[in-house]
Amino acid sequence: MSERNETALVLFSGGQDSTVCLAWALERYAHVETIGFDYGQRHAVELEVRAGLRKDLSAMRSQWAERLGEDHIVTLDALAAISDTALTRETAIEIAADGLPTTLVPGRNLIFFCFAGALAYRRGARHIVAGMCETDYSGYPDCRDDTVKAMQVALSLGLDKSVTLHTPLMWIDKAETFAMAEQLGGKALLDLVVEGTHSCYLGDRTHRHDWGYGCGTCPACELRAQGYAKFISARKMP
Ligand code: ZN
Repeated sequence: MSERNETALVLFSGGQDSTVCLAWALERYAHVETIGFDYGQRHAVELEVRAGLRKDLSAMRSQWAERLGEDHIVTLDALAAISDTALTRETAIEIAADGLPTTLVPGRNLIFFCFAGALAYRRGARHIVAGMCETDYSGYPDCRDDTVKAMQVALSLGLDKSVTLHTPLMWIDKAETFAMAEQLGGKALLDLVVEGTHSCYLGDRTHRHDWGYGCGTCPACELRAQGYAKFISARKMP
């Protein structure tokens, strides 16, 4: 069976990166399901925009509508309980002395991959797609390519089934992620990524910038704003 006839499970948070990953998977696999995690995020805006994004992606191309399957929400209260970070507690979002943002939930992506692996096994999905990126990864060690590769080995061994973890954004920056959106789904997808996805750590959806909604000052907004500016200026080049 060709890889294209297989099933993929996409870690889909409703953010910019995972939305582009979902489009990437819809273009590539015959059947695509999504998984999202509810771990007591202080602002659940990302989770709220997920259903709308899935609907809009389906409306974009009939082939994508045919391929998009079930959505799974996994509640991880235990993760919230053990995390002492700005995302889940009323702590200021800043860069700590170790250079990592206080929004970091230690090992969060490892935990996500374990649950995604178990679900993928049950759903017959051999491919897991996730938006980790080492290029502008804010210092998150569980976003590193080596971490993801180690996880792929651990899951394949632990499940006794070959699982491939795909990270299409690993080596590209935010500007190139906007470009990938345009490449995959034209202006419609680019507009959806700007208008519909959410990445602001403060959950701000009242301030609209040319790059989308957000407070404009948190690290996630800064990254997105810089990436969009770079994408636009690269597009203007002859
Ligand atoms: Zn923000």
